[in-house]
Amino acid sequence: MVNMDKSDLRTIIIQSIEAERAELARISSNIHSNPEMGFEEEKASDWLTDFLKTREFRVMRGVGGLPTAFRAEYGKGSPVIAILAEYDALPKLGHACGHNIIATSAIGAAVGAKTAVKELGGTVVVMGTPGEEIYGGKAMMLAQNAFDGIEVAMMVHPSSIDSAVVNALACQGLNVEFFGKAAHAAGRPEAGINALEAMILSYNAINSLRQHIRETARIHGIITDGGEAANIVPEHTAANFIVRAQDDDYLTELKGKVLDCFVGAGVATGARLKYEWADVAYSPMLNNMALAHLFADNMQTMGRKMPFALRDRGFGSTDMGNVSQFFPSIHPQVSAVPPGVPAHSPAFRIAAGEELALKAMMDSAKAMALTVSDLLTNPEILAKIKEEFRLHKQAAVEK
Ligand SMILES: [Zn+2]
Repeated sequence: MVNMDKSDLRTIIIQSIEAERAELARISSNIHSNPEMGFEEEKASDWLTDFLKTREFRVMRGVGGLPTAFRAEYGKGSPVIAILAEYDALPKLGHACGHNIIATSAIGAAVGAKTAVKELGGTVVVMGTPGEEIYGGKAMMLAQNAFDGIEVAMMVHPSSIDSAVVNALACQGLNVEFFGKAAHAAGRPEAGINALEAMILSYNAINSLRQHIRETARIHGIITDGGEAANIVPEHTAANFIVRAQDDDYLTELKGKVLDCFVGAGVATGARLKYEWADVAYSPMLNNMALAHLFADNMQTMGRKMPFALRDRGFGSTDMGNVSQFFPSIHPQVSAVPPGVPAHSPAFRIAAGEELALKAMMDSAKAMALTVSDLLTNPEILAKIKEEFRLHKQAAVEK
């Protein structure tokens, strides 16, 4: 392919992905009907890497010290553009976050991007990033330099809406336990120390705190151990909480206040508190607007309009936020389920295996591949994307 017309290349990219439709649909369906929890995604990792290997990608598995992670490359030299795949499911709910669509849109995009790389040079990388939901796999991979050499990163996430940008919060999990003293709850209550009272007091203290935090912040949790029997003063209780905020600074402040709720309840009841923050904190999503516009323009080719208004409500959190603090990144949402269907619900799981989701996967794969092609074609756009990132990071340092 020499001196190919730009519009010809775009057509060939789209056709190359269209030619994989049946195979992509099959892999999506396999992942969807075989949900694997974070860091246990062996089948999904096999299916995705097998696909990429047979399409001439160089596949390295177990990158970043995570057995189900992978890095698959095609081409050589700069620019190095990454497309990220997620493929973990949720406990009990299965693929209620639609990560089967993320995974297959990534490998579909890779096939199209390969067509562009053949013509234009550069490197396309598919990063297989496990354990998004609970562990923050991408943060662990970043810490192990698994993203070395990457210049730009992109992925899509299925949703009930189309949006070029996403509002994802910084967050960190907290595990707490209270240790009291068992006693007969009626016969000798004065001899006991009630670990459940400590937990309930903490829970209520957090409810009180919630009135006085920023609107965009979130605190939520569950009690996982509430005692053994109603006639025993509970000697042990446990809970998991998550604290979220719009930026890392407010997250730090809020974490201190939340912890004080538990400390205070421990003092009030005499129960001993043990706590542990999750190893990984998720960073907020830094949407690269220049890259988002490029992607949105390509989605327009697919007949999709991608709004840019960040919704005022938080979307939740994603470890793509961590990636976005290292490289210019996007994490657009693509309408893949009927309006109003919330993520992490049984309805979302069902919809993630249906025709609308498949269409979103194909459109996203094509738009990402065309975006890679644009980046390889236009060094000035790539420079603009990098400059936006640099200015944002500089502003954060000066703040
Ligand atoms: Zn998700």
